[in-house]
Amino acid sequence: MKSIVFLCDGMADYPVSAFDGRTPLDVSRHPNMDKIAEGGLFGLARTVPHGQKPGSDNANLSVFGYDPLVYYTGRSPLEAVNMGIDLAQEDVAYRCNLVTLRGSDNIEECTMGDYSAGEISTEEARELIQAMDKLFRTDKVELYPGVSYRHCLVLRAADTGAQLTPPHDISGKPVRDCLPKGVNGSLLLDMMKRSFALLKDHPVNQKRVAQGKNPANCLWFWGEGRKPALTPFAEKFGVQKGGVISAVDLIRGIGRCAGLEVLPVDGVITGTFETDFDAKAKAAIRAFEEGHQFVYLHMEGPDECGHHRQVQEKVTCIEDIDKKVIGPVMEYLENCGEDYSVLLMPDHPTPLCLMTHVSDPVPFALLSSKYPVDNTGAVFTEYAARATGVMVPRACDLMEKLLG
Ligand SMILES: [Zn+2]
Repeated sequence: MKSIVFLCDGMADYPVSAFDGRTPLDVSRHPNMDKIAEGGLFGLARTVPHGQKPGSDNANLSVFGYDPLVYYTGRSPLEAVNMGIDLAQEDVAYRCNLVTLRGSDNIEECTMGDYSAGEISTEEARELIQAMDKLFRTDKVELYPGVSYRHCLVLRAADTGAQLTPPHDISGKPVRDCLPKGVNGSLLLDMMKRSFALLKDHPVNQKRVAQGKNPANCLWFWGEGRKPALTPFAEKFGVQKGGVISAVDLIRGIGRCAGLEVLPVDGVITGTFETDFDAKAKAAIRAFEEGHQFVYLHMEGPDECGHHRQVQEKVTCIEDIDKKVIGPVMEYLENCGEDYSVLLMPDHPTPLCLMTHVSDPVPFALLSSKYPVDNTGAVFTEYAARATGVMVPRACDLMEKLLG
């Protein structure tokens, strides 16, 4: 038995005015997604429990089969684990974005210009983060460079309880009421203020401004948490050899915390709509050929398009995923001579009109070669999923169905 999750981050959407009220899933062509809906269980699933904020962290935990109400301890520790940072139980991790603040030299007067600092390159970001680490490092405070704008702050032997705001939730808005408060708030705010005073003059940023790019002029902390204790995937679901394919530290971190392998990809995977989709499909097929029974294949592109309101790019991205990833992998599975099962879904919607995540239930399709379903004519869209009347209130229950 071979099983795969096609996780299309942020793919679900709301009606788009430029599409006469249709969604990107409505207007794009995705015959391979439709085929999964036609032959499987098709409906809506709730990935974000009531009372939690819609993040890729808790939503993906759900799809991995872990109830966020039991297992979720914050986003940053999952990323930190993937970055190879040793976290002790009493340590606290924070996501540290490099962001672009605009409008003033006084941080209180600024707006959030860009939560990704123009998708700054990993090399440029590393230089900036290392400079800031030099400035701030003590036996309690450590900054670690990650990928692009996504980095990590560790406070050793610290308390939790900071009030923080994800920067992608306040794009274009004043930051004044969203600066750190609560436990560790003054320490975090002080670091942000000092970074804002210094980063703008760093050679990396002077060059970026000269090239018309957004400068990475401030550190922004959010996503506080301690290391989660996930029951190993093998123990929970009886899958001995499973792996994760993703460009995103958070998703790889969930995989590692669950004891799954992070699978190599030959090609440049960027987590944007320009990522190398062919390479991801090949990596999944190779994993199955090498004896893996389970692959979690995560694609970040639709989410990034949602956050940046790239309307046409989101449509193209969905079509690329369908054609270049789902098509070839399905063809392999159909011809592999074994039973197989497939789960297709986003983690949460990232509506173009809002440019951020929402917690609405998402469409899912779960096809198993052992238990074929006849939904002939089904199309994988938000509307059609709702119209089936199928509602899975806890998306974490789907993994059992996929592997059972
Ligand atoms: Zn997400």
